[in-house]
Amino acid sequence: MRLSRYFLPLLKETPSEATIASHRYMLRAGMVKQDSAGIYIWLPLGFKVLKKIENIVREEQNKSGAVEILMPTIQSAGHWKETGRYDAYGPEMLRIKDRSNRELLYGPTNEDMITDMFRTYVKSYKDLPQSLYHIQWKFRDERRPRFGVMRGREFLMKDAYSFDVDLESARLSYNKQFVAYLNTFDRLGLQAVPLRADAGPIGGDLSHEFLILAETGESKVYCHSDLLDMKAPGYVSEKDLQKVVDSRTSFYARSDEMHDQTKFEKIPENKRLVARGIEVGHIFQFGDKYSKPMNANVQGADGKVNPVMMGSYGVGVSRLVGGIIEASHDEVGIIWPKSVTPFGVGIINLKVGNDEVDKVCEDLYEKLKNSNIDPLYDDKNDRGGQKFARMDLIGLPYQIIVGPRGLGEGVVEVKVRLSGKKMNLTLEEAVNFIVNEYTSET
Ligand code: ATP
Ligand code: MG
Repeated sequence: MRLSRYFLPLLKETPSEATIASHRYMLRAGMVKQDSAGIYIWLPLGFKVLKKIENIVREEQNKSGAVEILMPTIQSAGHWKETGRYDAYGPEMLRIKDRSNRELLYGPTNEDMITDMFRTYVKSYKDLPQSLYHIQWKFRDERRPRFGVMRGREFLMKDAYSFDVDLESARLSYNKQFVAYLNTFDRLGLQAVPLRADAGPIGGDLSHEFLILAETGESKVYCHSDLLDMKAPGYVSEKDLQKVVDSRTSFYARSDEMHDQTKFEKIPENKRLVARGIEVGHIFQFGDKYSKPMNANVQGADGKVNPVMMGSYGVGVSRLVGGIIEASHDEVGIIWPKSVTPFGVGIINLKVGNDEVDKVCEDLYEKLKNSNIDPLYDDKNDRGGQKFARMDLIGLPYQIIVGPRGLGEGVVEVKVRLSGKKMNLTLEEAVNFIVNEYTSET
């Protein structure tokens, strides 16, 4: 993409409503524009990152065996009345009436709808287990939308739902999601900590929240610091799932809501970590909480008919855009992990109009495009300082800086955004370096 053709509305001033780095940088880098409280337009740069995150979430869901569907954003109130949640949900739910005065709502989550869908088709253990997910916009009329996309009112969520004949099988579905979450967050460049969570009053017996540590996080975390050194497991066979889950859950890790100081103090003192965190995912096993009131029953191998055992599994896809920035930025801008960067590399032309500089930039641009690197070419006629600041702000992992002085010596400058390291390389070496960075490992 040529910057002169792109829509990248940068802000010079930091908007006063933005109190945390991710919110500030998302506004300044032209990623989102607030339309009304907690409701955002995703501008091209932000939208690209959102889609990359969404796709990694999708790939890991598919690997876990979950199957993608798409449920509507607008739901009928009927299902929610059946489960009793229509009254229980409260003012966070946006309630709507259509022209015939029918009660509708903008979905804050989809347990009720999917349980209704499920009972229409599935009656027997022979068709189980099933895990279905969708990635869809949600609406919650939050009391205090804030921190930009981190606590929006409209936000993008991946929500998966599992259906099993009994609790033992439901546990397996839960564990598959648990492992998928570890792998998903790892690919996003994040170290996520699974915290034991409150499963709620009805039927729930198992729940974990996944948090990334950040000073600006809304939750307080108490955990064993070894959890932060654990690597993502990658592919795990069914027989090893429980072992992998246990290897995490055996460590103490809770938010302040569930915190137990006595248990925490059993951790050796130098391993006790108290920090703040951002909730990026939440998984839940809740048994027959919805299937029972909705009569979503299945016949088991023994011929007995029982409510299907369910779980639900959420990832805050749009919150992750902010979360990743909180985890990866410095005083001048964002530093994207390679897996979600909106462009692979920025090419800075320091002397637009100079034949040789233009030619080398065009050449680099074509070569990098052909190597699937998706370069952003700053071909605008601005001052060097402005170009550097802009490229640092939007945070692409690599920059190639092309100016007459370097070309006089046959080189361009390659800058690594994270380390600040700069290298003088020939054009060919520069292309090879970038291509190599994206193909050697993730
Ligand atoms: P929170 O405690 O942050 O309000 P929640 O417990 O209400 O979240 P869940 O119902 O578990 O959220 O939703 C699944 C995921 O969706 C959360 O882990 C979070 O990442 C994301 N999420 C929830 N509410 C919002 C919001 N208002 N804006 C952006 N993402 C959200
Ligand atoms: Mg939650």
